[in-house]
Amino acid sequence: MSSFDVAIIGSGPGGYVAAIRCAQLGMKTAIIEKYDTLGGTCLNVGCIPSKALLDSTHHYHDAIAHFEEHGIEISGDIKANLKKMIDRKQQVVDQNTAGIKFLMDKNKIEVFHGIGSFKDATHVNITASDGTIQTIEAKNTIIATGSKPSSLPFIKIDKKRVITSTEALRLTEIPKHLVVIGGGVIGLELGQVYRRLGAEVSVIEYMDRIIPTMDRSLAKELQKVLKKQGIKFYTSHKVNGVTASANDVTITADNKKGEPVEFKGDYCLVSVGRRPYTDGLALDKAGVNVNERGQVEVNEHLQTNVSNIYAIGDVIKGAMLAHKAEEEGVFVAETIAGQKPHINYNLIPGVVYTWPEVAAVGKTEDELKEAGIEYKTGQFPMRALGRSRASGDIDGFVKILADAKTDEVLGVHMCGARVADLIAEAVVAMEFRASAEDISRMSHAHPTYAEAVKEAALAATDNRPLHS
Ligand code: FAD
Ligand code: NAD
Repeated sequence: MSSFDVAIIGSGPGGYVAAIRCAQLGMKTAIIEKYDTLGGTCLNVGCIPSKALLDSTHHYHDAIAHFEEHGIEISGDIKANLKKMIDRKQQVVDQNTAGIKFLMDKNKIEVFHGIGSFKDATHVNITASDGTIQTIEAKNTIIATGSKPSSLPFIKIDKKRVITSTEALRLTEIPKHLVVIGGGVIGLELGQVYRRLGAEVSVIEYMDRIIPTMDRSLAKELQKVLKKQGIKFYTSHKVNGVTASANDVTITADNKKGEPVEFKGDYCLVSVGRRPYTDGLALDKAGVNVNERGQVEVNEHLQTNVSNIYAIGDVIKGAMLAHKAEEEGVFVAETIAGQKPHINYNLIPGVVYTWPEVAAVGKTEDELKEAGIEYKTGQFPMRALGRSRASGDIDGFVKILADAKTDEVLGVHMCGARVADLIAEAVVAMEFRASAEDISRMSHAHPTYAEAVKEAALAATDNRPLHS
C-alpha cells in the first residue's frame, strides 16, 4: 500500500494549490480526483469556461454595437457562431486542465483518478471508474471536494430545458428566451453571455436587488446598465413553480404585491447558489462532522474534529470563490508543515465579470452602519476619466469608504471597465492598512481606469477630487 504525508481529495483550485504547496514544503503528496481532468469546478465548468464565453460574446457585442462609433466598418452580416464559441471555450478549458496535470508532474505529486472515500481516519479508498478499489495511507488528509449547484425543492433540473450553469456553458442553440432564477453572480454573468448573443433574458430575483451580498450602490448601478443592454429584471419575486415540456418551460412566481405572475421561456437557468459536496466521501468512517448546512466543520486552523483531517474551499463555510479556496490550500499545507500562516477573510475580493465589471473588498455601507462604525464616502464616476472617454466605457464608479476619524480604508466598491483588475490595488492598500489619503498621494498612471481609485480616495479624504 502506498503511503503519503498528505492525501488531498478533490483537484479544484483548493486541492491542486494545496498539493503544490505541500510538495514545495517537502511532503509526499497524493491528489485524488473523480473526473478524468484536474482543476475542479473552476477550470472545467466554472471560472474559466464562463470567462471564455464572456470574452467571446464581448467581442461579438462590440462588433455589432460599438465598432461603428470607433470608425470600423464591416461589410456584410456579423454572425455569432455559438458552436465555435463553445468549441473555443473547451479548448481553453483543455489547455488549463492540461496545465494542472503538468504542475502535478513537475511537483512530483501522485495523481489518482477515482472517487475518494474514507476507510478510516488514515486510509482513503479510491474507486476507479471500472470499479477497482485501491487503498492509500495518509498521515494527513485534506478534503477539497468543492460544491455542486443547488436548486429549489420544487424544481426538477432536467438538464435540457431546466438547466444549471454546467449546461448553460455548453448549449447548442442560442435561447430565444432565457429565464434566469437568481440574480447572483452566475445568473448575471451567463445571462449577459446569452443576451449579447440575442436572447431575451429575464432575471427573477427573490431579494429586493441583484447581487444582494454586495454594496447596494453596485447592485443599483449594474442593474441600470444591464437593463440598458436589454436584460429584464424582476426583483422581490418568489418563484414557486417550474414546469418543463419538450420545447419550453413555464415559471410561476409571486411578485412584490403577492400577485401570481408567469414567465415562459425555452430555457430556465437555475442559479440560486451552490451546496457543499460531500457525497461518496464516507465521512462517517473517519468520524468527520458536517454542520446543518452540509459544510464540513472546521476550526480556525481549518482542521476538522479529527485532528489529521483538514477541509478547504467550497466544502467549508465562507465565500465560494476560487481564490478563497487557493488561500486555504496554502494555509493548510503550511499548517501541516508546522508553520503559522494567516488568512485575512475580510480582504478576499469579490468580482462579477459582467461588463461593466463589479469588484469589491472589505465592508459594505450596510455592514458599517450595522456595526455602528462612522465612515466617510468618496465616489468618483468612470465617465469623468480620460481613459473611459477614449474607450467609450463610461459606466460605473469607484467608491471608497474610510473611517471617519482615522481615514483608514474600510471598503472599496467598484463598477466599471477592468475593475476586476483594479480591485487588487484596494486589497494591497487595505492589507497595509492604508488611509484614503495614502492612496490619494500615490501616483497613478495617466490615462488609466486606475485613476478613478486615486480620485475616489481624494474624495474620501477631504472631498477634493481633481476631475469631477
Ligand atoms: P471545486 O473546484 O468544486 O473542486 C472540487 C473537486 O473535487 C472536483 O473536481 C470534484 O470532482 C472533486 N471531488 C468531489 N468529491 C470527490 C471525491 N469523493 N473523490 C474525488 N474527487 C472528488 N470563483 C471565482 O473566484 N471566480 C470566478 O470567476 C468564478 N466563476 C464561476 C463560474 C461558475 C459558472 C461557477 C459554477 C463557479 C464559479 N466560481 C468562481 C466558483 C469557483 O469555481 C469555486 O469557488 C471553486 O472552484 C471552489 O474550489 P474547490 O477547490 O473548493 O472545489
Ligand atoms: P449566488 O449566491 O451568487 O446568487 C444566488 C442568487 O439567487 C441570490 O441573489 C439569491 O438571493 C437568489 N435566490 C436564492 N433563492 C432564490 C429563489 N427562491 N428565487 C429567486 N432568487 C433566489 O449564487 P450563484 O450565482 O448560483 O453562484 C454560486 C456560487 O458560485 C457563488 O457563491 C459565487 O460566489 C460562485 N461564483 C462566483 C463567480 C465570480 O466570482 N465571478 C462567478 C460565478 C459563480
